[in-house]
Amino acid sequence: MSHHQDIKRRRSIDAHVRSQLDCDSMTSSLILETFPVGPLQCNCTIMGDQTNGEAIVIDPGDEVDRIHRRLADLGLKLKQILITHAHIDHVGGALKLRKLTGAPIFLNEDDMLLLQMMATQAAWLGIQPPEVAPPDENLSDGRQVGLSSYPATVLHTPGHTEGSVCLHFAPLKMVIAGDTLFAGSIGRTDLPGGNSEQIIESIQTRLLTLPDETRVLPGHGPSTTIGAERKTNPFLRPY
Ligand SMILES: [Zn+2]
Repeated sequence: MSHHQDIKRRRSIDAHVRSQLDCDSMTSSLILETFPVGPLQCNCTIMGDQTNGEAIVIDPGDEVDRIHRRLADLGLKLKQILITHAHIDHVGGALKLRKLTGAPIFLNEDDMLLLQMMATQAAWLGIQPPEVAPPDENLSDGRQVGLSSYPATVLHTPGHTEGSVCLHFAPLKMVIAGDTLFAGSIGRTDLPGGNSEQIIESIQTRLLTLPDETRVLPGHGPSTTIGAERKTNPFLRPY
């Protein structure tokens, strides 16, 4: 093969590999939609796999009809309802969504007390308490949840509440952080079950140990990365 032909051939292989990669990313079977719901604008996330039609919903705090309609529009069947913690703005719509879809609710058992305080939580906000029920499954530390092709590991990160968890989607380099870590801030610890030393410990040992490029989707506000928070979050500076 002449030098010229060889270069031409290599170029065409490169082009083929690249087009395959482009194709993979364009036709990626993952649906990932995060949008704020309810008066406290809790970030609710829908994840779906277009190849098998499976979906999970994380923190359906409110606007359940909208979430349910979106699942139907996308042609997805709900498999799990995952709750990062039992504050009303994150868990408020879970039972309604379970009734509409039959999907089980997952919540860490250390937040059971908070779940039972729903009337008190509603009174803090001056709203009617939503109907709640005990979860079907315990979102215990180390458990694998999520879609079969996009699994997540549960990280128990107490501090904002006793049963707060983050969901680490390692293959996607992404963590759903609930109200534990925000862009430039951390979760409040002045509500029942909150503990300011514990939330720092949880973030330091369970979140800042993740790779810098890990995308963080917090329970409120914009997304960030572990690296950005490690460098600039004023609450995580060494004393
Ligand atoms: Zn909260």
